[in-house]
Amino acid sequence: MPTEKTIFEKIIDGEIPAEKIFEDEKCIAIRDIAPKAPTHFLIIPKKHIATIADATDADAELLGHLVLTAAKLAKRENLPGYKLLFNVGRAGGQRVFHLHLHLLGGGKIDLEKC
Ligand code: AMP
Repeated sequence: MPTEKTIFEKIIDGEIPAEKIFEDEKCIAIRDIAPKAPTHFLIIPKKHIATIADATDADAELLGHLVLTAAKLAKRENLPGYKLLFNVGRAGGQRVFHLHLHLLGGGKIDLEKC
């Protein structure tokens, strides 16, 4: 039985709106709806992978692409420095079970809420 789509799959499929700031064939980037820093983007692969712990060697290029996309977006935003964060698993603070990379910068970062 197919599992229910996560909120990020619904955004990727255009079923619910989001502030999309970047898209290519492998990923999208959106503004976080509840930002924990002045600049808080989420870089989300189109391929469904629940968490980093579920990624395999076959995903190595995709994971590199997410990190490099984050770096390009940070450059575009003129961020002098920033943090990149994966929450992994419920115990790691992950709430949406479709892998995503947080890009946080532009001032004070509330890591407690990330
Ligand atoms: P995580 O705790 O790593 O799973 O992060 C999930 C992130 O998704 C949180 O920072 C939420 O604020 C963000 N989020 C949840 N729903 C949406 C949405 N509809 N649009 C944009 N960001 C969202």
